[in-house]
Amino acid sequence: MSEWWEKVVVGGRDDCWLWQASVDSKGYPQINRRGKVLRVHRLAAEEAHGPLTGPVHHSCENRRCLNPAHLVPMSSTREHLQHHLATRCKRGHDLTDPANVAILRRGERRCRKCHVIRNVKSQRKRRQERRMMV
Ligand SMILES: [Zn+2]
Ligand SMILES: [Zn+2]
Ligand SMILES: [Zn+2]
Repeated sequence: MSEWWEKVVVGGRDDCWLWQASVDSKGYPQINRRGKVLRVHRLAAEEAHGPLTGPVHHSCENRRCLNPAHLVPMSSTREHLQHHLATRCKRGHDLTDPANVAILRRGERRCRKCHVIRNVKSQRKRRQERRMMV
């Protein structure tokens, strides 16, 4: 066990184990080790799951959590992105609700809410362009 576990409130197996010390600009736990800033959730994931080859996903979506059961190593950024697109879009809309999901022809899943936002934006742009032509 590494020394930084002292700064974690370790709870039950299913609880989020929250980091009590400093976090970086994105809200991830960080420590300074010999002048190097390290992200603690990666260290925790490495301790539990072995050497990492890609990003670490929080299944609980709680960036301060260090419960190894909630830290899921991903093999690549692409896999991580796909994982997120399965549950939540970039803007944070819930994609576990089928009403929010549009399935494109190639089988891609898209957020319907964002799709609507994008359409409204381009409509507004088109209207502006029309006005300028008059
Ligand atoms: Zn958690
Ligand atoms: Zn993630
Ligand atoms: Zn969305």
